[in-house]
Amino acid sequence: MGLCAALELNHRGIRCVLLESQHEPPTDLRASTFHPPTLELLDHLDLTATLLADGLRVPQWQVRLHATHERAVFDLAVLADDTPYPFRLQYEQAAFCALGWQRAAAAEHVDFRTGVAVAQVDQDGQGVRVTAADGSSIEADWVIAADGASSRLRQLFALNFEGLTYPETTLLATTRFPFEAHLPGLSWVNYVWADDGTFSLLRVPDRWRVSLYPRDDESVERALEAEQVQARLQEIVPNAQGYEVLECRPYRIHQRILDCYRHGRVLFAGDAAHLNSPSGGMGMNCGIHDAFNLVEKLAVVLDGEPDALLDRYDRQRRPLAREEILAQADTNRRRMQQRDPAWRRAELERLQGIAAEPSAAREFLLRSSMIAGLRKAAAID
Ligand SMILES: Cc1cc2nc3c(=O)[nH]c(=O)nc-3n(C[C@H](O)[C@H](O)[C@H](O)COP(=O)(O)OP(=O)(O)OC[C@H]3O[C@@H](n4cnc5c(N)ncnc54)[C@H](O)[C@@H]3O)c2cc1C
Repeated sequence: MGLCAALELNHRGIRCVLLESQHEPPTDLRASTFHPPTLELLDHLDLTATLLADGLRVPQWQVRLHATHERAVFDLAVLADDTPYPFRLQYEQAAFCALGWQRAAAAEHVDFRTGVAVAQVDQDGQGVRVTAADGSSIEADWVIAADGASSRLRQLFALNFEGLTYPETTLLATTRFPFEAHLPGLSWVNYVWADDGTFSLLRVPDRWRVSLYPRDDESVERALEAEQVQARLQEIVPNAQGYEVLECRPYRIHQRILDCYRHGRVLFAGDAAHLNSPSGGMGMNCGIHDAFNLVEKLAVVLDGEPDALLDRYDRQRRPLAREEILAQADTNRRRMQQRDPAWRRAELERLQGIAAEPSAAREFLLRSSMIAGLRKAAAID
């Protein structure tokens, strides 16, 4: 999110230094979904056109029962009057970061320094001194702390990061196997109830991402073994040729949020400020929205307005993250973890009912597409 903040500052002609501890853009499997408001925000930075050209448009997503192929299909066409982009865009975060790195390196007002890890931050009423692990330091008026889930800055200030770590470990595997040719009515984004658990099938432009979970009696190490991953994929669709698994990585998920996004002259954004389950694909999007909201206010403060305006960043963004993003992601995760057949049946019918009724579907999709929360937050003074 630091990249987006830097590019937006650059767009407004505001000088900034972007410090990044790594030497190369990340390549790990993380976000894959861009929601409509994010595409709107990135448009004036000339990023949306590239994302649309290279990404996969997903007009419909679904919750389905694997055994019977019954499904509730949500069609974002009902949002046609709400956004110019009535779809989810599947585009990998690694590709987005690579694009952002290129743009930041070429940006006139961004001093992009890679391989520089922030180690210390000292502030007083006049400004902030940021000291890197190599001993170099810079002076600044404000600092945006967008240093991710393990935020060094959050630790430096010993800030409370209230919440929990979910018990399960998710295994994310990728394959080019054409699930769409074998599972009737599949969308490009699917959350699936299986007899003994759950999995999801998310398409990115050139492959499927499959989220799996270790069996109840299985260790994460065992579940990650090639033969076990193969067995789990064979249960989804039997494949006599065997699956070519491109990669498989474990990850833990958390639900946490800061008590306040502002700490004097240091403003927290993205995963440094909030963490949620990836179910629904909202964490990165939320961080990008933080970046644009914050830069808009910083620009006004740098123009001489009172810095109390920055407290509004906290007032707008933190309740939204808690009540919309963390809450929805938690509901999505809980829905898919449920195993009771009667509960699943009732929930499937409820979701089918919403999907079938345009005004209910619109209301549901305005929330899941992160539009409703942004509208609500914009009204907060
Ligand atoms: C499997 C998975 C799937 C996901 N799917 C989605 C999805 O579909 N949609 C969605 O919206 N979100 C998704 N997310 C969440 C998303 O990946 C994160 O919310 C997003 O990466 C947060 O971005 P960030 O910039 O805040 O943090 P990061 O991406 O972690 O970036 C932090 C940056 O700070 C740098 N850094 C760290 N410490 C320092 C330091 N001391 N000094 C200098 N630099 C430092 C790091 O190198 C890194 O580049 C998913 C996450 C996972 C794990």
